[in-house]
Amino acid sequence: MIDHGNPLPRYPESSPEEEERMIEEAFQDVLNGYLKSNHRKKVEIIERAYHFAKEAHKGIRRRSGEPYIMHPIAVARIASREIGLGSTSICAALLHDVVEDTEYTVEDIRQHFGPKIAQLVEGLTKISGGIFGEQASAQAENFRKLLLTMSEDIRVVLLKMADRLHNMRTLGSMAPAKQYKIAGETLYIYAPLAHRLGLFAIKTELEDLSFKYEHPAAYESISQQISNTESERHNIYRDFAAPIESRLHDLGIRFEAKYRLKSVYSIWRKMETKKIPFEEVYDLYAMRIIFDCDDPADEKRICWMIYSAITDIYKLHPDRTRDWISVPKANGYQALHLTVMGNDGNWVEIQIRSRRMDDIAERGFAAHWKYKVGEGDEESELTVWLRTIKDILDNPEPSAIDFLDTLKLNLFSSEIVVFTPKGELLTLPAGATVLDVAFALHSHIGLCCIAGKVNHKLVPLNHRLSSGDQVEVLTSQNPNPQPEWVNFLATAKARTRLRQALRKDRQPLIDRGRQEFDDALLRHSIPPSNEIITKVMGYYRLDSRDDLYIAIARNDIDIDRSFTELTKKSSPSFLRKILRVSLPFTSSSKEKTAATGSEPAGKPKINPKETYTLISDHGAQNYRLSDCCNPIPGDDVMGFIEDDGSVTLHSLTCPRAAVLKATYGSRILSTRWKGGDTRFTATVHMEGIDRHGILQEIASMISLQLNIDIRQLSIEAVDEVFTGRLVIRVSNAATVDDLCNRLKSIEGVSSAARI
Ligand code: MN
Repeated sequence: MIDHGNPLPRYPESSPEEEERMIEEAFQDVLNGYLKSNHRKKVEIIERAYHFAKEAHKGIRRRSGEPYIMHPIAVARIASREIGLGSTSICAALLHDVVEDTEYTVEDIRQHFGPKIAQLVEGLTKISGGIFGEQASAQAENFRKLLLTMSEDIRVVLLKMADRLHNMRTLGSMAPAKQYKIAGETLYIYAPLAHRLGLFAIKTELEDLSFKYEHPAAYESISQQISNTESERHNIYRDFAAPIESRLHDLGIRFEAKYRLKSVYSIWRKMETKKIPFEEVYDLYAMRIIFDCDDPADEKRICWMIYSAITDIYKLHPDRTRDWISVPKANGYQALHLTVMGNDGNWVEIQIRSRRMDDIAERGFAAHWKYKVGEGDEESELTVWLRTIKDILDNPEPSAIDFLDTLKLNLFSSEIVVFTPKGELLTLPAGATVLDVAFALHSHIGLCCIAGKVNHKLVPLNHRLSSGDQVEVLTSQNPNPQPEWVNFLATAKARTRLRQALRKDRQPLIDRGRQEFDDALLRHSIPPSNEIITKVMGYYRLDSRDDLYIAIARNDIDIDRSFTELTKKSSPSFLRKILRVSLPFTSSSKEKTAATGSEPAGKPKINPKETYTLISDHGAQNYRLSDCCNPIPGDDVMGFIEDDGSVTLHSLTCPRAAVLKATYGSRILSTRWKGGDTRFTATVHMEGIDRHGILQEIASMISLQLNIDIRQLSIEAVDEVFTGRLVIRVSNAATVDDLCNRLKSIEGVSSAARI
């Protein structure tokens, strides 16, 4: 649960001796795990690093009350056990907060522990304080730094992951405002990054933890439902797995069969995207078969042997076999997936992997070092990705948000594989088009691309590709890049290249527009500032400065008139109107320009560290509801402090809120609705067979329930089947369950459940 400013859960009082013993035990545990690993046994330096860090953090406690050193020890444990890193990383993990939080410098670390560990600590210190600072430009800069250090030594990022994971595990004792910022940032950047690095277990845990803090009620309810249905599901699984296991034993395969439950977060995602209640998420679990095999050359054969044994027993789903063995994912993931129908008629996914593949899937990149076979083909895909990152870094976008989006595009997307006419394989993000292929081959080919042939059929540039397509690119003699191409490019590299090319064409216009803008500022005696530019951009709803300058150069905008308007009407409400269409300002409020007018007087200062109480009394309210997600009072919301000091509320699920959280953490407020309105919104989904009069029966059934406030009711019938959606406001979940049961009792209604 989110700690809404309640007293902190205190760390239990203990005597200094007990505490000392606890610290010592925690460290010994790290050491024992390390000694069991395949790494060389460099215990001495690890012990030294531990004592050094312990001494440096002496007397300091975490917010939870526990001695500070417990944090670096926990990070070292994650680095060693969960990521599989060796002594250098363990030392760096133990020392990672020393330079940041104590008197010691990187130079001290270098003298005591040598250049390698010092370099890692320095990298971690540089990117501390969150990837995102308070200002948009600083965010991009920090993120850039993170990725640059990453491409130099991937261990910096792996350790940063370990640090973040431990902070997420102990997030409960943080201040509420910090919880939002950290959870938001984790979901926005760290989880996708973990996915990209192949740290599957860590990615899943980060997502689950962020979700827990962002939607405590939903998290609680799904976890509850999982545990309620657990034993029943286990029985079904046992019946399902038994024949497979005995067949594999007969074949003499050494294996381990695991029951894998879907994570809370992915169950929730599925419920949200498919609009289905918990009961209808059928792929709640999967079976995983991990086999041992001494010779890596046998892996593929054994995988298919198991596959064929299973499909002898169960019916195979025709299009859900995924062969990640012949073509591993870009993050190195290898496995053979298939889906078969269980005895109860539900589809069950089965994942087949060797022990080596499993290790790589769970622990990601670091596990590659353990299995250095030949050239290491899986690594090269990652190298390609790192090179792409470097590429983008060399040409950063002028707008920080654009830059982040471009990078995220590459972090998030799932992948497809296509072939060139020569049979070469290309791995591209899902949604990639013919034009992406052209840019992947060469940027010049991209700029000259006019159409493509997919499986020998002529298609336009924006044709979306599917896995397995054979793609040929058709080009013209001369490059002819178009600005709207950016709308259907899915790869970051292609977008960057396109923008670069366009910028070259646009540069003379941009220069002229900028000059005209500056001249106009002089004429109106407005001091130049980021703020005024953002304001004018917002006024015309333009996304970038370049667009603004071009519009001026082309005379699409009368800049003199807009300045007159802006200075004349600088009443707070007008400013707010402008503010809302543009991104919040990046410069500090001290640098207000003549055009922005003065700070509205008498506004009490808001402390973002405290939970903000939302008050609405007889028309006077201390918040505004944003128009992007239209939250309603009682919803799960977060506050955002606008430049004028007012508070805007966004729903916690609002995509814009996610960006705000990740980028302007210090202006995010955790909130609480004043007064007893503890009601919440629930959506009920109904399905059934349409019959005459059923609608009326449903409506009267609902209206009989006096404690329910209906917000929305829509019913759609196609042929004989109807589906209905009912949005209500209730004070507790029991009311919803009760309503669902009553609805189900109506003849013809086959299902009714909260989603
Ligand atoms: Mn730390």
